[in-house]
Amino acid sequence: MDLHLKNKVIIVTGGARGIGKSIAKALADEGAISVVIDKSAESIKTLPDSTQKSHFFTADLTSAEACKKIIDEILEEFGHIDGIVNNAGNNDGIGLEKGSPEAFIKSLTNNAGHFYYMVHYALPALKASHGSIVNIGSKTSITGQGGTSGYVAAKGAILALTREWSVELLPYRIRVNAVIPAEVATPLYEAWLNGFADPQEKLKQVSRKIPLEKRLTKPEEIADTVLFLLSDRSSHTTGQWLFVDGGYTHLDRSIS
Ligand code: NAP
Repeated sequence: MDLHLKNKVIIVTGGARGIGKSIAKALADEGAISVVIDKSAESIKTLPDSTQKSHFFTADLTSAEACKKIIDEILEEFGHIDGIVNNAGNNDGIGLEKGSPEAFIKSLTNNAGHFYYMVHYALPALKASHGSIVNIGSKTSITGQGGTSGYVAAKGAILALTREWSVELLPYRIRVNAVIPAEVATPLYEAWLNGFADPQEKLKQVSRKIPLEKRLTKPEEIADTVLFLLSDRSSHTTGQWLFVDGGYTHLDRSIS
């Protein structure tokens, strides 16, 4: 199926590793111009050269000024923006008991702030292109995880913003949707697993609970859904939360 993404300029935040990297590669494979923004120049250097249509910008998106600067630079280079994948995030473990009011607010801002900043500064360009926005959430905001209040609150806010923006942006024909992963094999996930005494045993425990095929979701499986939502193949889909998680979040209680 042709997704009609050829030469579309799509921004992927946190696109140098994990889920974002798979999205950036899938976009480049479709002939889109994938514009990767990531914190680490080192991670960006590890990207395969096959993504010839990828363009890389280094920035820490926790600052609104950095987001504005990047949007200005992208517009100067390409002239238009057709989509944004707000993907960068960090499950930073700022809990209720092990946390502080200051750390909570910082985590909330670090995880949800740049979703707002990026769309806010890119809005004139998105209005012109009738662009598509995809926000990457997390099942933790639906199920809870424990010990990570800041991240979970931010991911909950991101789902609310998906609904809110889809309404505000109706007049401009800008569609806004969220993809919600649960357990995806990425560097962030590996770091989380390594926090357990026996990471391999923890991985087996988690995998056993995933209804479909008893395995983690592959980053490419998240990317495929994101590309569909960016494309005009989903032209009448907006304000939706799509769980790409092997049934982990919603099938858990329906099967024995
Ligand atoms: P990852 O492996 O850590 O990759 C994320 C990339 O984003 C990293 O290169 C990271 O850089 C970068 N990044 C983070 N914060 C940034 C910032 N402020 N500015 C610029 N770059 C930044 O993470 P992932 O597992 O692919 O996760 C991607 C998204 O999926 C996140 O929003 C996450 O919450 C969500 N998610 C993942 C899972 C999962 O199981 N993996 C489950 C649910 C939701 P550094 O490495 O240098 O920090």
